[in-house]
Amino acid sequence: MIPLDEAKARINAAIQPLAAVQVPIAEARGLVLAQEVLAQEDIPPFDNTAMDGFAVRSADLASATADSPVELVVAATIAAGSVAPRALMAGEAMRIMTGAPIPDGADAIIMVELTEPVGEHAVRCNSAVPVKNHIRPAGDDLKAGATVFVPGEVLGAHHLGVLASVGLESVLVTARPRVGVFSTGDELVVGPEPLQPGQIRDSNRPTLLALVAEAGFQPVDLGSLPDDDSVIAAALRNAVGRCDALITSGGVSMGDFDYVKAVLMRLGELSWMQVAIKPAKPLAFGVLLGTPIFGLPGNPVSSAVSFELFARPAIRQMMARPDTERVHQWAVADDPLLRSPDGKIHFVRVVVTQQSDGWHIRSAGGQGSHQLAALAAANGLAIVADGDGVQAGARVQVMMLQ
Ligand code: AMP
Ligand code: MG
Repeated sequence: MIPLDEAKARINAAIQPLAAVQVPIAEARGLVLAQEVLAQEDIPPFDNTAMDGFAVRSADLASATADSPVELVVAATIAAGSVAPRALMAGEAMRIMTGAPIPDGADAIIMVELTEPVGEHAVRCNSAVPVKNHIRPAGDDLKAGATVFVPGEVLGAHHLGVLASVGLESVLVTARPRVGVFSTGDELVVGPEPLQPGQIRDSNRPTLLALVAEAGFQPVDLGSLPDDDSVIAAALRNAVGRCDALITSGGVSMGDFDYVKAVLMRLGELSWMQVAIKPAKPLAFGVLLGTPIFGLPGNPVSSAVSFELFARPAIRQMMARPDTERVHQWAVADDPLLRSPDGKIHFVRVVVTQQSDGWHIRSAGGQGSHQLAALAAANGLAIVADGDGVQAGARVQVMMLQ
């Protein structure tokens, strides 16, 4: 067995970042910027009002109070998206809506709540307002020419809003990896038909495809394959042309029909590893024509944990994400997490909750590598070092799954 860190290091050493591509901003969420973004213009582009109300000259309202209001003539109405027909004169107000440009001649806004209409064409103002009141100046968010983002920025929803606000329709980013997923196993059945003796349903493929999508990669469903050397070899050869990375499940252990391992050893530059972890000890990792292939074990919990430990961080590295690893945090074990020494780090499926005194964990249920139900109940993997385990009340590090 090799240590977990060494297995990860071997994989990461074989990973190359993908090329930069131009993508529409609607498709850029989660991708990493490969260009500098400058503001082409002031944002907001013009002085505008932050309130519905009236554009006024502050000096006109200097004496205004609720007891002694000042009446102004309403000269125009300015909606967002329109401009005033002319400049504001002394003794006048213009009705103005949030986001509309400030008319020439006005230097303040009085919000509608501090006014009362006097018929159609006049307004009573119940308060004085300082110069610049409720005016958002041009460039208050971003000045023309300012650097908005630098290469390496991970584009989240709010970044896409900023890109749109500076008028960009597409951006240069490190490409989103297309990640092909296929299962292997003669016992696998797809669809609702009754199981024949010896058959089980393919649960790994939907799980892995969803994990791929959640990680920010583009999933490519490559189906379920039999335990057949030539079928698996053909599928791998075909898939490396279409995908940036491949994930398979099953067929990498010590069994007679574990063909994924055999095919990868023949076709690719491959490391087959026994990693000192539980679950997910066996792992086949190879590179075929430049495409990394993660041969994950077949047991459902093993394939999911192996994805988390090896495939997710490595493929995030391909897309230049700085946050390749899941968040880890310390938590108090409310129940003991006991184990026996076996030379491996154990990853225990746990329910993590935040309480008034910090994070706590309890077991999510059955910990067998075939027991997918407890993985569904879990939102973290407690990292239990080799030894006798963790006593109730002790602190343990948890890899968060959400
Ligand atoms: P293997 O790694 O191929 O030896 O498979 C280990 C265990 O995982 C066996 O019990 C398989 O039946 C099971 N298994 C393999 N692939 C899948 C899959 N796609 N969905 C559910 N169980 C699987
Ligand atoms: Mg198998």
